Amino acid sequence: MERNEALALVKPHLKQERYEHTIRVMETAIQLAEMYGVDVHKTELAAIFHDYAKYRPVEEMKRWIQSSYLPKDLLHYHHELWHGPVGALLLERELGIEDQELLEAVHYHTTGRTHMTDLDKVIFLADYIEPGRKFPGLEQVREAAWEDLNKGCWMASKNTISFLMSKNQPIYPETFYAYNALTKQYK
Ligand code: GDP
Ligand code: FE
Ligand code: FE
Ligand code: FE
Repeated sequence: MERNEALALVKPHLKQERYEHTIRVMETAIQLAEMYGVDVHKTELAAIFHDYAKYRPVEEMKRWIQSSYLPKDLLHYHHELWHGPVGALLLERELGIEDQELLEAVHYHTTGRTHMTDLDKVIFLADYIEPGRKFPGLEQVREAAWEDLNKGCWMASKNTISFLMSKNQPIYPETFYAYNALTKQYK
């Protein structure tokens, strides 16, 4: 599938600002993929599709989780965490996308996971550092991202957990698993 075809497929599902975020994630992810030797075309498509389910109604996402292979523990956590897993499910069902590496990168783009592939890492990190983002500590993550893929992901994961803890938010286990695994790799 070519870039323009993929963009045309996601555009009707996104608000304008989210579409613009998607373009920036795509551009950032391609640069990271080139730097770290990841399949550039697969990265481009995964980035284009990563927020495919972002605007599905919460009730619809809940039904998809209940009625599919998706982990049920998601239902005990914030619905912001659902659009990645549900997005992966719907990309397969609605668009017929079957590339498992791509679908997994979409699935885990918000939390990360224990054994992140380089494609997972590139999408996770590009989503965090794309030029439109403003998070505390982002400049250091941006610098690290171009030096060491694992270090960049580790710092992004650490910042997210710190931020959520400062807001007294529950943290999904996979988010911790990603942090722990990246910490081991980074040491
Ligand atoms: P976006 O879809 O491009 O806005 O970005 P993401 O998909 O990465 O993240 C959506 C939100 O999920 C962010 O605000 C993160 O802080 C939040 N998030 C990430 N991990 C967790 C978690 O374990 N628990 C909770 N409650 N929120 C999380
Ligand atoms: Fe997202
Ligand atoms: Fe993210
Ligand atoms: Fe995103």
